[in-house]
Amino acid sequence: MTLDKTLRQRLDERHRDNLYRQIKTLEAAPSPIAVVDGRKLLTFSSNDYLGLASHSEVIRAQQAGAELGAGATASHLVNGHLQVHQQLQQSLAEVTGREAALVFSSGYMANVGTLCALLGRADNVISDKLNHASLIDGARLCGANSLRFAHNDPVALRRQLQRAAARGGNTLVAVDGVYSMDGDRAQLAEIAALCWEFDAWLMVDEAHGFGVMGSEQLPLAGSCAAAGLGQDEVPVLMGTLGKAAGNAGAFVAGSRMLIDFLVQFARPYIYTTGMPPAVAAGCIAAIELMRNAPELNQRLQANITYFRRRAAQANLPLTDSSSAIQPLLLGCEETVMTVSKKLEQRGFLVGAIRPPTVPRGTARLRITLSASHNHSQIDALVDALVAVLQEKIAVPL
Ligand code: PMP
Repeated sequence: MTLDKTLRQRLDERHRDNLYRQIKTLEAAPSPIAVVDGRKLLTFSSNDYLGLASHSEVIRAQQAGAELGAGATASHLVNGHLQVHQQLQQSLAEVTGREAALVFSSGYMANVGTLCALLGRADNVISDKLNHASLIDGARLCGANSLRFAHNDPVALRRQLQRAAARGGNTLVAVDGVYSMDGDRAQLAEIAALCWEFDAWLMVDEAHGFGVMGSEQLPLAGSCAAAGLGQDEVPVLMGTLGKAAGNAGAFVAGSRMLIDFLVQFARPYIYTTGMPPAVAAGCIAAIELMRNAPELNQRLQANITYFRRRAAQANLPLTDSSSAIQPLLLGCEETVMTVSKKLEQRGFLVGAIRPPTVPRGTARLRITLSASHNHSQIDALVDALVAVLQEKIAVPL
């Protein structure tokens, strides 16, 4: 069969299963608005938690950064990188309370690159079942013995740690700090204690924690700091710059030894063009704003509380997430697609999440909140959700 015929069959299957995805082209997207086909939609689907993607200070810094050159012109090790890259790494090490940090071009590359650098066939990687795809792919690609445990279940993790210990080799436990499709937090204190007991290395993906949670001393560091855990307990901390920082790229933070090792062995760091200097400059400005304008995060937290109160009053099917990610579990793919389309007709952009991103039967609306929303916009969303879910299509909730 020709290539196109084979692909047509697979694509037809996707359509039949209601899982075919389409990319929306936005004409503009100043948070929290997106303009689609000339219509303004209120967005509740972006990860721009602090509204920094369209912050004037970040944009000015990024424009100034472009004066250093539109692109990095080669990979870090071939051509060197600029002072802005170094400054960004320094700033990330400071705000995460780690000795050093290394910037990658994306979170996907950071996770795959780190797991493949740290682990080989003789080792074990233990992952939460709901880990982000980039951790799952890294666990597959690194060739280590891959074990999974039931979501956020320390008893199940202990069983897998025992199996790994019996097999021998180094063991790394990889978890999301905040789960990207559920919004709940990892039970980090219990997980870290188990890693300590079994002499396993803990890697935490802080994509959704960095910049919006932390401790008193390290308010931006993420869910590990919020759980009172530092570099000793979490030697591998990964974070992204495309969410709370509103930009692009990612980082791994840890000991100087870890960072030196990744520079030598993380192939997605070594064999790719460096981050454009403008992006690094924009990220530095975003981190400065996070440090100096805590009111942005306070506004986000107030919006989360407000949304949850309004949604509970309206009997919407909330989960127990306290993060900016507030999924409404609807179950059936078709229902989720219909509800999402109806919300769009009413002027709201809300992500419809279906398998394979989430397990079958758990399709959901993924509502994300931002500091850039105001209470009347949240009221409007809740009212629209109630109206749409009451319409006939909203088969059993
Ligand atoms: N980890 C998690 C938990 C994520 O949600 C994402 C982004 N969706 C990534 C990693 C990948 O980050 P990036 O978008 O920078 O590749």
